[in-house]
Amino acid sequence: MSEELPAVSALTKEQAAAELGPLRDQLRQWGREYYEQDAPTVEDYVYDRSYQRLVQIEDRFPDLVTADSPTQRVGGQAESQLAKVTHEIPMLSMGDVFSLEELADFNARQLSDYPEATPEYNLELKIDGLSLSLVYEEGKLVQGSTRGNGRIGEDVTANVKTIKDIPQTLPEPLSIEVRGECYMPKAAFLALNKQREEAGQPPFANPRNAAAGSLRQLDPKVTASRQLATFIYYVPDHAAFGVISQAEALEKLARLGFSVNPHSRVVTSQEGINDYVAEYTAQRDDLAYGIDGIVEKVNDLALQDELGNTVKVPRWEIAYKFPPEEAATVVREIEWTVGRTGNVTPTAVMDPVQLAGTTVARASLHNPDYLAEKDIRLGDTVLLHKAGDIIPEISRVIIDKRPADSEPYLPPTTCPVCGSDLVHLEDEVALRCVNPMCPAQLKEGLAHFASRNAMNIDGLGPKIIAALWEQHLVRNVADLYRLTEEQLLTLPKFGEKSAANLLTAIDQSRHNSIERLLFGLGIRHVGAKGAQLIAAHFKTLDAVMGATEEEVAAIDGVGPIIGNSVATYFANQQVQDLVAELRAVGVNFDYLQQETTESADWAGKRVVLTGKLSRFSRKEATDWLTAHGATVTGSVSKKTDLLIAGEKAGSKLQKANDLQIPVWDEQRFDQAMKEEES
Ligand code: NAD
Repeated sequence: MSEELPAVSALTKEQAAAELGPLRDQLRQWGREYYEQDAPTVEDYVYDRSYQRLVQIEDRFPDLVTADSPTQRVGGQAESQLAKVTHEIPMLSMGDVFSLEELADFNARQLSDYPEATPEYNLELKIDGLSLSLVYEEGKLVQGSTRGNGRIGEDVTANVKTIKDIPQTLPEPLSIEVRGECYMPKAAFLALNKQREEAGQPPFANPRNAAAGSLRQLDPKVTASRQLATFIYYVPDHAAFGVISQAEALEKLARLGFSVNPHSRVVTSQEGINDYVAEYTAQRDDLAYGIDGIVEKVNDLALQDELGNTVKVPRWEIAYKFPPEEAATVVREIEWTVGRTGNVTPTAVMDPVQLAGTTVARASLHNPDYLAEKDIRLGDTVLLHKAGDIIPEISRVIIDKRPADSEPYLPPTTCPVCGSDLVHLEDEVALRCVNPMCPAQLKEGLAHFASRNAMNIDGLGPKIIAALWEQHLVRNVADLYRLTEEQLLTLPKFGEKSAANLLTAIDQSRHNSIERLLFGLGIRHVGAKGAQLIAAHFKTLDAVMGATEEEVAAIDGVGPIIGNSVATYFANQQVQDLVAELRAVGVNFDYLQQETTESADWAGKRVVLTGKLSRFSRKEATDWLTAHGATVTGSVSKKTDLLIAGEKAGSKLQKANDLQIPVWDEQRFDQAMKEEES
């Protein structure tokens, strides 16, 4: 945008005033899409470029600054249906710089009034998520909220309680507010977008928007299913917290059980800052979560207080934003692939190009609407970037380079695999092949059936499935169980040993507990976890098939969407025929308790952990208990079977004693774990 505009230094005041209105409107609209709808329509650097221009114009003509300018306001309005929370200490935004030179200039200015001060900085990674405030009263988590417009945020208490790395109780009865970043790890983001595409929903633009969309939910169950995580980095009332530097605050937060990012570093020179930036610019692709820069904070908290804040940003911290990496290439083809549920997705096939450390030749175009919006055509030169640090995505078409004879690209109207008519279902962005016998869907379904979390048939990958399909050996999942050695030997590159291995793996899967089968059948909306809950409740496949929609929906953690999907699925005659075939080939239809390491001592026990555990982490203890069939809950009640109390256990220990619930110390628990394993 700014390239085509006159330099700010050349503007007259009238020109500046004329430009400001539309510029602010544009930024406000992008801000609403980003902060309130979690669905930006432009890349961050496009927003940043316009925002920088606004800052420059307002710097040059300070009397044109208005109170409602985006430079004077934080984030968006808390306009969702969630309840509102007032932040006594405002949650601010952060100033940013885009080069090391700008950062050095900022540092020189920042401490110019404090010639005596030691320039000591705590450097941290700038996590690409959304700010979160957590309030504890006497050590108990009582409130979680988003930043909103800085003064008024949204109440997401029930949602944050589902985030696993947020302590519900602190080992000390502190009454404090802590702040940090809520984020979605890259792997969870990729999986969520895949699932959304498969379900015909628009994908999230980046992990930040995915995290925000997942946290700002009315139903905490949705948040719980989204694998959010946090890094806590700030205590507004540091005096009450009893620390004198940012580095010390981070250490204390970690000791209290908060998840604290391990990559922070105290430095005292510009050289140290430059080294840190260089290191993490190189490493950012290897991190399990997205970062969009580094944050530099004055380490001395007393000096932070002296520096104070502007209306929008603290003067003691600044973000260095990584420059956007882009590369240009040419679109040669648009490929359409059919997924397991018939969703037909386009992928741009391009001339290979180097981008942020990898060679990129393909980029998902998600759905026909997306393709039409960006008006991507065959032969177009496009600019690529990596969305949220990970996924190659087309930013835009370079129109100047468009071939003269180019024509708008028209999506197919028939399935590229089976030729049946494609449909655009109402309220879906996806184009679907609704032919249940479409070979592409059936093959994808077979691959899903064999996958690790489903029937776990070792060695039965997409290539072998494709070969079995080509040879007409397999048409549905029951056919797998009728395969013979002779048939397998007809497959390319198949010898006696590989045939025997595959037959053994298939045979073993006959004896799986039914949650694997339920997941493997690929019933819409039924994930591995939902299948586990349904299986554990009904115990046999026949009982699941005989259950009403309401009975399935009533299971804790399942709900009406899955209930409806399961009932509709099993009401289908073709499905019933398939189930009959599976029964005939000897596939197990029962829920098998022994599938887990569940033991008689722990199965079904409700256990609460409290206090500071030193031999293992909370997570290790919880994982072990869950794997042995126990349920770990957050609070003590009459239903609790056992309290495991570490050091400095407080009110939960008291309550357990009052209710005469057995209490073990860590040593006793450790002993029991060892006995169990021996
Ligand atoms: P910001 O997200 O750039 O920076 C401030 C935030 O950084 C803090 O609120 C905090 O949540 C976070 N943060 C992460 N790690 C941190 C750490 N270690 N210490 C302290 N804070 C940390 O600022 P902002 O005002 O929230 O948003 C501006 C950003 O949003 C820009 O990157 C802009 O491009 C993007 N944006 C994009 C659009 C769009 O349409 N694409 C629209 C509006 C804003």
